[in-house]
Amino acid sequence: MRVGHGDTENAFVIEGDDGLTLVDVGWASAPGVIIEALAGLGHGPGAVRRIVVTHAHPDHVRGLATMREHTGAEVLVHAADAAWLGAGRVPPGGRSRAVGSTLDRLPIMRWTPVTPDRTLSDGDVVDGGLRVIHTPGHTAGHIALHHEPTQTLLLGDAAFHLRGLGLGPATLAHDPDSRPDAVARLPRDVAAVGFAHGAPLTGDATDSFREFMSATSGRTPKR
Ligand SMILES: [Zn+2]
Ligand SMILES: [Zn+2]
Repeated sequence: MRVGHGDTENAFVIEGDDGLTLVDVGWASAPGVIIEALAGLGHGPGAVRRIVVTHAHPDHVRGLATMREHTGAEVLVHAADAAWLGAGRVPPGGRSRAVGSTLDRLPIMRWTPVTPDRTLSDGDVVDGGLRVIHTPGHTAGHIALHHEPTQTLLLGDAAFHLRGLGLGPATLAHDPDSRPDAVARLPRDVAAVGFAHGAPLTGDATDSFREFMSATSGRTPKR
């Protein structure tokens, strides 16, 4: 299930037997939008049991502290991004190029520090059936999530679906050259693909994702 906030930003909610799992939050205004969307589905904020963060970038975590307060949910993030989340900012050197690190000096790019309740590693299966796939490059601790019961892949910022499929701007990434290898680690046989930025792909449209994977993993990283 998809919860959109803003034109190009998405958070996702997964309904499980033991409650809801939220994947990413968004900017500071996102919690209100998400809580309203959950109410539309018949859920109060307390139904959210856990919040999985794909990576510690402001457009995914700026609303996290508020969302945790409203829901009482536990917060999970990959171990390699836990320090960034707890620092409330992308540290100097957290982006590959000067434009990215200049952006991170702006107050709007900082967030209320959040100490995660648990850290995740590649291969972990979060309650609710989400398998963690470590996809470093955009950040060191970036993860994609594979919801095995529905064969749905949630990509975070491992790929962007804005004017076609792409890896996103290199300047925003921690180690842009690792991104093709990260994409190659994703499962190909999926029924739906969700992006933090851009419209999801379902059914036959997932063919374009498989084509993107083949094209990306065959590419020699630019230095
Ligand atoms: Zn990002
Ligand atoms: Zn993002």
